[in-house]
Amino acid sequence: MSSDAKAPVGTPVIDGTKDYKPLRGKGYDLKKPHITETPITWGNWYKHVNWLNVTFIIGVPLAGCIAAYWTPLHLYTAIFSVVYYFNTGLGITAGYHRLWAHTSYKASTPLKIYLAAVGAGAVEGSIRWWSRDHRAHHRYTDTEKDPYSVRKGLLYSHLGWMVMKQNPKRIGRTDITDLNDDPVVVFQHTHFIKCVIAMGLVFPMLVCGLGWNDWAGGFIYAGILRIFFVQQATFCVNSLAHWLGDQPFDDRNSPRDHVITALVTLGEGYHNFHHEFPSDYRNAIEWWQYDPTKWSIWTWKKLGLAYDLKQFRSNEIEKGRVQQLQKKLDQKRAILDWGTPLDQLPVIHWDDFVAESKNGKALVAIAGVIHDVTDFIKDHPGGKALISSAIGKDATAIFNGGVYLHSNAAHNLLSTMRVGVLRGGCEVEIWKRAQSENKDTIVVNDSTGQRIVRAGDQVTRLTQPISSAEAA
Ligand SMILES: [Zn+2]
Ligand SMILES: [Zn+2]
Repeated sequence: MSSDAKAPVGTPVIDGTKDYKPLRGKGYDLKKPHITETPITWGNWYKHVNWLNVTFIIGVPLAGCIAAYWTPLHLYTAIFSVVYYFNTGLGITAGYHRLWAHTSYKASTPLKIYLAAVGAGAVEGSIRWWSRDHRAHHRYTDTEKDPYSVRKGLLYSHLGWMVMKQNPKRIGRTDITDLNDDPVVVFQHTHFIKCVIAMGLVFPMLVCGLGWNDWAGGFIYAGILRIFFVQQATFCVNSLAHWLGDQPFDDRNSPRDHVITALVTLGEGYHNFHHEFPSDYRNAIEWWQYDPTKWSIWTWKKLGLAYDLKQFRSNEIEKGRVQQLQKKLDQKRAILDWGTPLDQLPVIHWDDFVAESKNGKALVAIAGVIHDVTDFIKDHPGGKALISSAIGKDATAIFNGGVYLHSNAAHNLLSTMRVGVLRGGCEVEIWKRAQSENKDTIVVNDSTGQRIVRAGDQVTRLTQPISSAEAA
């Protein structure tokens, strides 16, 4: 097993992946067709399975569960297993993920060694392999190049991508030159199997054995079963975090925020935020949200072990949140009936308006817009007589406080009854002028191109109520 940290010299594009060799096996010939390019049949299915991963992810934990039946659980071993679970989990979340895959902070060498060691104890591949895939996951989220795309199913994103062989040509390319320059990463990658055995099994066995003479318990509980729980918990970042919860920043891709995912994954549950701001050392931005990984990094900073913690300005974060809110709002307003837009209404001459009103159509002109209130007369809250008296007339003043100052809801309802615009309807012109003079209420369209009508900004509403005949 040679160190593959030496990037070939003089290559035109150094993206860190062309020198990538898998740790186990002899590598692959990119020119030969990969097994994943042949469809699965009864005759070849076993060739599609990654048996090494099946052994580590499913076989060994299963054996551990069975062995646990005959192994009594010592209290100290139980406590140590939980403590070590959190340490190895942090190796993945604070180490593999936030430090190496995203470089969201810098760590001193002792902290790096600790994270690389406990990270190996979680048995989820080397930092170098894990980070390469994770960078591809962020760069090509939900696409064919995403190594654990949730679009292929929840189970695939959780386990399937490791249980089944993956075509190395399919995974998106990413730059890992920085990782190749990190001696801790290179050491861990080169000696990965030794690191796994030492930190995954030997170390917990030694602690429990030398500490309180529970060698078997240390092996089964703090070793095998603890590995199983850490693996399943951190795998949830790829599955559950892309499946369960809200999308407050962007809903075009699958990442989601949910407290359950956060509880399971040591704070990696605010995944919609994380995919938007991946280089932020935080996952939870509110102080009350559960993110022990963030708290650990912050504590290491106070202890002088971590520095250069990256954080997006809240102004940038809020912009993303407001844009997503706006999008949801636009979708909500798009399904409502706001009445035919004024520019799509026919222009009607005053004389035709009066004539049609006399022919049995209940037409009322308000602010230069003609409304057909025939079906509404019987429902008018102010009574049939009042509305009938306005038929065939300009009721602008009456509607806007001359007789009764109609509510915002009334103006909204009125707009759904629009049938035409009066030729030279001066109120419409006044309204248009008012709109262009007052920059705050200027006509704006939503993302679907529809005009936004804010409360009080309806065309039928006059900012200065016209004085009625009585008041004059
Ligand atoms: Zn993700
Ligand atoms: Zn990430």
